[in-house]
Amino acid sequence: MASVIDYPICERCGRECINEFNCRTFEEFQTCQVCGAGFAYTIKRDEDGKIVKDKAGNVVWQHKKNAGNGVAYIVFDDGVIFVDAAPGKDEYDKWFKHIMKEIDTNKHVVREECYVTKWDYEKEELIVVYGKLPEEYDDCSCFDELNFEDFEETNDDEYIPF
Ligand SMILES: [Zn+2]
Repeated sequence: MASVIDYPICERCGRECINEFNCRTFEEFQTCQVCGAGFAYTIKRDEDGKIVKDKAGNVVWQHKKNAGNGVAYIVFDDGVIFVDAAPGKDEYDKWFKHIMKEIDTNKHVVREECYVTKWDYEKEELIVVYGKLPEEYDDCSCFDELNFEDFEETNDDEYIPF
């Protein structure tokens, strides 16, 4: 697929999120797996997946946004990861009960890798209501040990003259 994946900082919670940009259609998706904030900027399609055009023959763009009320990040023993964005605060408790029932009763759930978060509207911060968020790692740390001279040397070894 002709898309570019990027990991920008989530404006809501400040952690890394996932952004996917499709270079062919210019559609863009962004989701934060920690707070649920994100957006989808997509071309409207009908039930058959065909692109819908307006009277002038232009594609119709749709813009959906998720404020980020929290997420349920559930890991299954076959490696499948299920991320469900939490609903708004009025429905949160009901949703949370449902999620916890799944975590507690489904024997295929790897409990120690799951987490559930909630956006606290009073404190304006994200709280972890179940489990533990994964550690954030510094993407650049592996390059610190490799200085530029080392890099050149490695390249020379592979250099094959005509
Ligand atoms: Zn976030």
